[in-house]
Amino acid sequence: MAKAIDVVIIGAGPAGSVCGYLLRKSGVNCVIVDYATFPREKICGGGLTPKAYELLQDVMPELQYDYQSVNHFKLMLDGETLCEVDLAKALRMVRRKDFDNRLLQQFLAVGGEILKDSFSHFEKQKDGKIEVSLKSGKRMTCDYLIGADGANSQVRKQLIGHHLINTLWMEQYVAKGANEFIFEFSRHYKTGYYYSFPNIDWDIVGAGGAYASSSEIRSILKQKKIREMVPVNDSVLRGAFISVDTVKSGENHVILIGDAGGFANKLTYEGLYYAIATGRNAYNAIIEGVDFITANHEIFRKKRKEVFITRFFYSRLGLWLMKVGAHYPKLIKKAFEMNY
Ligand SMILES: Cc1cc2nc3c(=O)[nH]c(=O)nc-3n(C[C@H](O)[C@H](O)[C@H](O)COP(=O)(O)OP(=O)(O)OC[C@H]3O[C@@H](n4cnc5c(N)ncnc54)[C@H](O)[C@@H]3O)c2cc1C
Repeated sequence: MAKAIDVVIIGAGPAGSVCGYLLRKSGVNCVIVDYATFPREKICGGGLTPKAYELLQDVMPELQYDYQSVNHFKLMLDGETLCEVDLAKALRMVRRKDFDNRLLQQFLAVGGEILKDSFSHFEKQKDGKIEVSLKSGKRMTCDYLIGADGANSQVRKQLIGHHLINTLWMEQYVAKGANEFIFEFSRHYKTGYYYSFPNIDWDIVGAGGAYASSSEIRSILKQKKIREMVPVNDSVLRGAFISVDTVKSGENHVILIGDAGGFANKLTYEGLYYAIATGRNAYNAIIEGVDFITANHEIFRKKRKEVFITRFFYSRLGLWLMKVGAHYPKLIKKAFEMNY
């Protein structure tokens, strides 16, 4: 006999925890399934933009977490520093292992339940309910299934029949340097960049982007002399995907959020804001009884716009304009702040 529950969420990352927390707070009976034991590692630069932490403050006002504030920003192109600016509002750099665990604890504090298991498949029943099967053999029936299972989402794979092409990123923890974050673009990196982000106990250096292979990324990081940087806690170079191919689920009661839905920013690859925002929008859709496409309309519109902006930004003309624009740091500051 399958256990009956209102909402089953696959994945306890930021998208799943925010959605679960809001649902539980409204009295909805919901469970999060994740195969990882928390606190778990997540390969990530850990940069929370002001729009991300302000939204989080709105949706989870009681949340406390550690972070390092950084507002000095260096923009580089092909090895040359184009400009350095101080942003009006700092980014908050978080340790994802602790941060994600804090979010999950908020869900548990409002009576949420977490199940350590793996998603296997779902089936739509004649009565409109969804039966979710887990790898352990356990089954649950629910009104809504939320796929918040990250860039390699199995829920998305079942919905659209195949895996999406993800963008590969690789990064390593190294000893702390200057308290500034660096983005370096290049005509040779295709759609992506090299980055160096200060964090609480270390810096995170990495690179990646669309169509980048692991050997290409290693070669970028070799040029940046990553091997000469001091690794922290025996950390090694590790890779993970970010999916930026946005998917609209055709099934009304099966909703994809966060990386599972391919919501990260197509130009900057910022994913945390979109994980939180789509988690909140899935909650709104369920509570208000509207479909997710309506509740998440603004973000779908933004994603369509990003396709064009990204194509232009990473073109030769786009990168040339960035070089020219860097003579006017106020312009770069404004452009960055518009998006963050
Ligand atoms: C190298 C790198 C650097 C990044 N830097 C930044 C940054 O600085 N700022 C930023 O905003 N974004 C950044 N991102 C993107 C950001 O990490 C993601 O967008 C964000 O983690 C998405 O959250 P999520 O909740 O959708 O998925 P995730 O955080 O990936 O969580 C998914 C959860 O699902 C679980 N899961 C997966 N499959 C299953 C299954 N079959 N059954 C059960 N559980 C499952 C996993 O264990 C995991 O806990 C970066 C990403 C990468 C790869």
